[in-house]
Amino acid sequence: MLKKELQIAVEKGVMLPLMEEFYTIQGEGYHTGTAAYFIRVGGCDVGCHWCDVKESWNAELHPPTAIEAIVENAKKYANTVVVTGGEPLTWDMGPLTQKLKEKDLKVHIETSGAYPLSGTWDWITLSPKKNKLPTQTVYDNASELKVIVHNKHDFIFAEEQAEKVNKDAILFLQPEWSKKEAMTPLIVDYVMNNPKWRVSLQTHKYLNIP
Ligand code: SF4
Repeated sequence: MLKKELQIAVEKGVMLPLMEEFYTIQGEGYHTGTAAYFIRVGGCDVGCHWCDVKESWNAELHPPTAIEAIVENAKKYANTVVVTGGEPLTWDMGPLTQKLKEKDLKVHIETSGAYPLSGTWDWITLSPKKNKLPTQTVYDNASELKVIVHNKHDFIFAEEQAEKVNKDAILFLQPEWSKKEAMTPLIVDYVMNNPKWRVSLQTHKYLNIP
């Protein structure tokens, strides 16, 4: 299905390009260590060179899947659903979140914020990317700001983003996985010197789970 046809199907609240769905432990940020059902939606044009899910970028490669079926699956496994991508805000998230909430599920999103916020969320993780900065609606509503650190210049970017996000957002610095040996000690030092920040690690990767 072409992107335009998909867009129409999403707007009608019928389907989403589903890359994968799985039950696991949230590895990152404030909810680290808690069980959640992950829904990975295809489609992203942000283009991070270090992206570890590049196969998500082309939405047309992922089967258009009925939202009803996604919700029924999620309900079998967990009380919390994390919608990730790709970039989920490529699509109108209203129909999916409405149906998840009708089933009394807690609904979280992981987003770069590159597109305006849609959907109704219990938790919004904003992980901003330099090549496509977040929209104001996501800065205003983020529950946590999670900045991925690849090099020491990213601390400057992190502070710039902390200035833009709402004042209630919890601030995290997380080493990019391939740079973790070099960056984790820098992050530890930075957080000890700037305690408004917290350390986030990709603990699911240390646990060897999805
Ligand atoms: Fe990959 Fe996320 Fe960047 Fe998109 S925003 S390219 S999915 S890391």
